Amino acid sequence: MNGWDSFEKSFPLLAMPLKNAAQRGRLSHSLLVVSANPDIRLSFPPVLAALSACTDRREDGAPCGNCSACRSLAAGTYPDLFTLAPTSKAREITVGKDDGDPDTLRSFESVFHLGSITESGWKIGIIQEADTMNEAAQNAFLKTLEEPPPKCLFILSTGRPGALLPTIRSRCQTIPLTDNVCIYDMELFAPAAEALLTFSLKANRDLVEAEECAVRLIRILDSLETAAEETVTKRWDARLKEAENLESAGLKLLERRIAGETSCEYRRLREQFISFLHAWFAELAELSAGIAPELLPNPEVVRPWLEASDKPKLRERDAFRILAEAETLVKNLRTNVNDELAIRTFILKTAARR
Ligand SMILES: [Zn+2]
Repeated sequence: MNGWDSFEKSFPLLAMPLKNAAQRGRLSHSLLVVSANPDIRLSFPPVLAALSACTDRREDGAPCGNCSACRSLAAGTYPDLFTLAPTSKAREITVGKDDGDPDTLRSFESVFHLGSITESGWKIGIIQEADTMNEAAQNAFLKTLEEPPPKCLFILSTGRPGALLPTIRSRCQTIPLTDNVCIYDMELFAPAAEALLTFSLKANRDLVEAEECAVRLIRILDSLETAAEETVTKRWDARLKEAENLESAGLKLLERRIAGETSCEYRRLREQFISFLHAWFAELAELSAGIAPELLPNPEVVRPWLEASDKPKLRERDAFRILAEAETLVKNLRTNVNDELAIRTFILKTAARR
């Protein structure tokens, strides 16, 4: 499967508008790939570059994967592909003294004013880990984004969109690539969404609300065992009724099987719950960074927030700080530290410090 096809398979909702835009020649000249996964940040920019550079686009606008532009982009040998990445020990991209200063913004930008030597005429500039541009470099690059040279596509990647100047973000089309798109049982998690909504709306000002929210989340986590039992028992209900007439060995076997399935089901629900908690805070952070709700990987998770009236403005710095705390919580819940302690610590830490 070529790069574009696997991108489209993983992110169908994002691929569609990009293809349409490419087909009509209206692709944005600057894209911002946002992902927490470093592999995705590294591998997808060249795939997106093919949207512009492909010389034999498919009918629906997707790159063909076969022309020399597509193939050389995939191989990293496209002659007009220029990449800037933090290389110094400080892991910082600086403006640089002049065009000849390697691995700096100046040397990177200088090539885009020259003609292209490729068939398609497109020049591609990729800035990996764009958040490592220091403020001066970001400001300098902003001028290029404001008046881009013709037939240039810039693709920035970042795991920390909040570290980019809002003016940079607003000039790029954001492509949020979350690799753990998950289908949540929204009926089961409605109480969790409600508790998190209360937390996000009020707990910052009210420790009593924060405590209440912690209690609700702990109760939901506790209830998953019963939920697992109920699901599995229902699955085996008919067999259990029949087994009433079985000899005791057969019944024991059946009971053991049910216990095994219940424990699997519990682990599955628990993992879903933890992932749901994370998705809530990750998506609020993405919203705070200006990402449109329809581009979120699981907009259903934060729907209660989107629909709530009178909500406070999401401040980006706060939202990303809480997300970082939520990631610690997720780690703790996955390593089976005391659940109650982990949740209380998270709630009180984030509530009291805001
Ligand atoms: Zn092609």
